[in-house]
Amino acid sequence: MISFEANEEQTLIQQSVADFAKSTLAPRVRQFEADRVVAADVKAGAHEMGIGLMGLPEACGGQGLGLVTSVLVEEELGAADAAASFGLPGPGAFGRAVLELGTEEQARDWLADFAAEGGETRFGAVAWSESSPCRDRAGFVTTALRSDAGYVINGKKSFVTNAHSADRFLVFAQVEAEKGWGGIGAFLVKKSAPGVVVGARHDTLGLDAADFGEVSFDNVAVTEADRLLGGADFTKATLRFFAKQSLVVAARAVGVARFAFEIAREHCDTRKAFGKPIGHFQAVAFALADRHMDVESARWLVWKAAHAWDAKLPEKEALIATAQATAHALEASMRCADECVGLHGGSGFIRDLIAEKLMRDAKQLALCTPTAEQLDQVSAALDLGIALDPALVLPTPDVQAIFT
Ligand SMILES: Cc1cc2nc3c(=O)[nH]c(=O)nc-3n(C[C@H](O)[C@H](O)[C@H](O)COP(=O)(O)OP(=O)(O)OC[C@H]3O[C@@H](n4cnc5c(N)ncnc54)[C@H](O)[C@@H]3O)c2cc1C
Repeated sequence: MISFEANEEQTLIQQSVADFAKSTLAPRVRQFEADRVVAADVKAGAHEMGIGLMGLPEACGGQGLGLVTSVLVEEELGAADAAASFGLPGPGAFGRAVLELGTEEQARDWLADFAAEGGETRFGAVAWSESSPCRDRAGFVTTALRSDAGYVINGKKSFVTNAHSADRFLVFAQVEAEKGWGGIGAFLVKKSAPGVVVGARHDTLGLDAADFGEVSFDNVAVTEADRLLGGADFTKATLRFFAKQSLVVAARAVGVARFAFEIAREHCDTRKAFGKPIGHFQAVAFALADRHMDVESARWLVWKAAHAWDAKLPEKEALIATAQATAHALEASMRCADECVGLHGGSGFIRDLIAEKLMRDAKQLALCTPTAEQLDQVSAALDLGIALDPALVLPTPDVQAIFT
């Protein structure tokens, strides 16, 4: 039986987050953008509602809700302010990575306090990308070399979401250089650990209320217990993490697409040319219809992929569905935001209207997960039965070396 409806609990959660997003986030979007941070009272409100904690298992103080609920929630946040959806407290990508790669004990040790008192100021971050000169060697420049007590990490990461607000990081690093991708590892590191230095904040095109920056690790000592082994297959666990994380970003992109379409529709209904609303001209009507199709199709694909994970369908099916959903949602949101700017004419370019912000945010969303092309690569590899070579299916850690 096919169902396109959220269940009662999911609908209730979606509605309460939609109310929160409309009443609390949306009116202050420009303030957050100017301040380059989400206001503390809004973070506290989100924490009180448990917004960042829904996907955490109950053993870690969360609600143990699945990805379908997450994507419903993320669409509502994205429709109000995609930037704020990165800047609300909680384990976020860090939590998803720990759950995918770590043991139950590591998850409890590193995630439970997000639900405890003070959780409204807690963030985690994933440090994968690194600015490094183009090179041919597989894996990371950042190293985690074995020591008597565990490992010592050295290197510098870039593009880390919540670099400044996070109090803990999941750091990917090269443990054994000669093994290339087979020699990488993931390590839990507290920001307070000696040798961790949070560096510059990136000045970005959009998503201004979210914080993206550099983090350096200078002889940072971690123990064996701080290494996440990824269960039976580290590459597949890492791929699962990126897939689920990209789906969350895709849901935010659906929110941006939806909002852009809604305000474009409203504008095409009220703005008149030659005596009638511009939406009555065929060229504009076709554009609107296509963007509506973008919103609906992106949402269904995201729901379908989230359901595939929740229902524990075969992993290949869930990965292909996720790659399709994410690639489509990221591109659809950019098309909707671009059209929204264009249909507003010159005023679409003016900051008094929100259209220009949606376009900047949509562009940045499209670059922050594995990109659409990288995900297409995963999908095609699975379709063609090509071995899941990490060099092919994981995002390249070498972001362009502009910060070194
Ligand atoms: C807003 C934002 C948040 C981010 N957050 C984090 C974070 O929290 N932690 C972190 O570690 N990193 C983060 N990143 C970095 C992000 O993961 C990378 O930017 C992303 O994976 C793209 O990689 P790249 O920048 O190296 O681009 P490249 O890999 O250099 O890609 C350049 C172009 O080539 C295309 N391309 C790349 N590979 C292929 C392929 N195999 N086939 C076809 N086309 C391909 C890409 O689609 C893109 O158009 C963030 C980035 C942004 C913009």
